[in-house]
Amino acid sequence: MRADLLKKELSIFTFGDLLSHFPFRHIDRTQLNTVNEINAATEYVQIAGVLLSFETMGQKQGKRLVAELKDKTGVIELIWFQGLGWVQKLLQTGHSYLVYGRVSFFNNQPQIVHPEIEILLPEQPVAKKYLEPVYPTTEKLKAKGLGGRQLSKLTQALLSQIHEHNIPEILPDDILCQLNLISRFHAFRQIHFPQNNEAYEAAVRRLKFEELFISQLRMQMIRSRRHRFSKGVVFDTVGDLFNTFYKEHLPFELTGAQKRVIKEIRSDTARGKQMNRLLQGDVGSGKTIVAVLLMLLAADNGFQSCLMAPTEILSRQHFETISALLEKMKLPVRILTGSTKTAERKRILNELAEGEIKILVGTHAVIEDVVQFNNLGLVVIDEQHRFGVAQRAKLWEKSAVPPHVLVMTATPIPRTLAMTAYGDLDYSVLDELPPGRKPITTVHRYESQRSKVMDFIKTEIEKGRQIYIIFPLIEESDKMDYENLMKGYENVKAYFPEPKYWISMVHGRQPAEQKETNMKRFVTHDTQIMVSTTVIEVGVNVPNASVMIIESAEKFGLSQLHQLRGRVGRGAEKSYCILLTGSKLGNDARERIHTMVTTANGFEIAEKDLQLRGPGEIDGTKQSGALNFKLASIVQDREVLELSKNIAASVLDVDPDLTSAGNLPLKNFLNQSPQGIIWSKIS
Ligand code: ADP
Ligand code: MG
Repeated sequence: MRADLLKKELSIFTFGDLLSHFPFRHIDRTQLNTVNEINAATEYVQIAGVLLSFETMGQKQGKRLVAELKDKTGVIELIWFQGLGWVQKLLQTGHSYLVYGRVSFFNNQPQIVHPEIEILLPEQPVAKKYLEPVYPTTEKLKAKGLGGRQLSKLTQALLSQIHEHNIPEILPDDILCQLNLISRFHAFRQIHFPQNNEAYEAAVRRLKFEELFISQLRMQMIRSRRHRFSKGVVFDTVGDLFNTFYKEHLPFELTGAQKRVIKEIRSDTARGKQMNRLLQGDVGSGKTIVAVLLMLLAADNGFQSCLMAPTEILSRQHFETISALLEKMKLPVRILTGSTKTAERKRILNELAEGEIKILVGTHAVIEDVVQFNNLGLVVIDEQHRFGVAQRAKLWEKSAVPPHVLVMTATPIPRTLAMTAYGDLDYSVLDELPPGRKPITTVHRYESQRSKVMDFIKTEIEKGRQIYIIFPLIEESDKMDYENLMKGYENVKAYFPEPKYWISMVHGRQPAEQKETNMKRFVTHDTQIMVSTTVIEVGVNVPNASVMIIESAEKFGLSQLHQLRGRVGRGAEKSYCILLTGSKLGNDARERIHTMVTTANGFEIAEKDLQLRGPGEIDGTKQSGALNFKLASIVQDREVLELSKNIAASVLDVDPDLTSAGNLPLKNFLNQSPQGIIWSKIS
């Protein structure tokens, strides 16, 4: 019964779960207070004294029990509104009691409402020897007598029966020594019932380290096993395609970062092991050309490549960019998406199976089961966060030897997040923007300044520029947002009437073809204004667009705002991003807007986003179990995270399979349940 409730309400299934249900704070009952110490700032007190008197007062709802407790220094009032019968039985004037509770004042007199109370026997030590834990619980549990107090009792009972060998050490001695960590057994005791604050801190430090270290170890082992045992296709030749393109058709000098990353990937793909790499780079850092060079490398080694993008529009744009880049290369590039016509699809599938197509660009359609490659050697996944892990795995199955995989992220991910959520991947960073980028001026304007903003748009259009106006549409099905978008569109149209001005509108409810047409008209400059939802968020490239207006900017997340801003500043002209908001902004919204106005660095913005929203909300990591830490926070504990990462690396460096005697407990722990200890079930 109790067990069922614990399972349902708190997911506590085993003794181990119970021990891992940590208190969120402690109350200090190691100290004894006196009545004369109490002042307006006092919160909780523990007082020992003699009961002077008690009586019930009031009627019905107002009925209460009032008692007076006296210590050497004064008198404090104790009040109960509930459980009067039970308390009354306990009370006897002239006896000594120990009370604990939150102080309140009534007519300037200190009192404690519903204090915890116990009889003090003459020989008994007055204060407790430990801090008392306060546990998270639920209303339902409280109602069934499993509130924080009862959880505390259960835990205490459990701990009293547990010995060192029930919670054996799993960390190697030298790590414990080096980091000065207390044992696992003591940590579990002290985190629940610490003797003092220092003991509690030591327990938390030990368990946080363990938590992060284990997660790092798991991921680094996956990575190290791939490095050692996976089979991968070998790209060991830099051939004609790569060289010719590099020497003759590269439209610009590569940045240092691009060169470095290409080198990293080249050495990774030449070793005969499968590459699984995350490529991070801010908007506009030039990830596409890196992908193109790698696809040429694959082709030089006789392999096919495919590049997947999350949307039809993006795939098409990639297709066009890549086709243009490779125009002189006599290398067939094709596009396959959901809207590819049947006859064309057939032909493409055929050519893929025959190996005639070397580079395929597409959407999810690429990974449908009917698509058979002749010898797929490289998969590039652009704008990673829209592709799930399961989808990635599907690609693995396409060939006997899995292709190399390069995942390119839409938005930078903070380092700590990348380490924890993608620690099993290798990792490259484009931390340099191509030269000559003009900074985008970002400003915050209120709704009330709209007409000024519209005037500004007008002057920019007169200069020949194009404008994005983005409306929030969080859910494509959201009716309110949809109506706002339509209203906004009408509004813009009133300011910018045809035939002098032409406006494109793109949103998720349009059929794909209509989206495409509207987008195209903007790309070809048939329209000057693009009114859109975030469907254009990622990747779209219209260099002549110089102004990004974001309507109701307070409704967008930071990384989304940054992505949107990245749509401008792609051409030679000075660009602007205008964040329009209502006049009332919440604290977080204000901070987001402030961040956008003051920094253009995607990594900084990602860090801020992580701080504001927490790791669970960051794109692409929501489902990642890797972030379900009980104690550690990748925001607050980044130093411990770095430390655990380095230590995991050095442990695996010496003993990659954890087979040495000292590492065996660690290995066993990893092989067991996620909790790591086989506990008997609570019954
Ligand atoms: P993202 O990393 O956001 O996908 P892109 O690959 O779309 O960035 O590149 C953004 C723009 O920068 C493109 O127009 C591209 O041609 C240009 N670009 C990329 N690398 C360089 C470079 N090394 N020098 C100059 N321009 C570059
Ligand atoms: Mg891109």
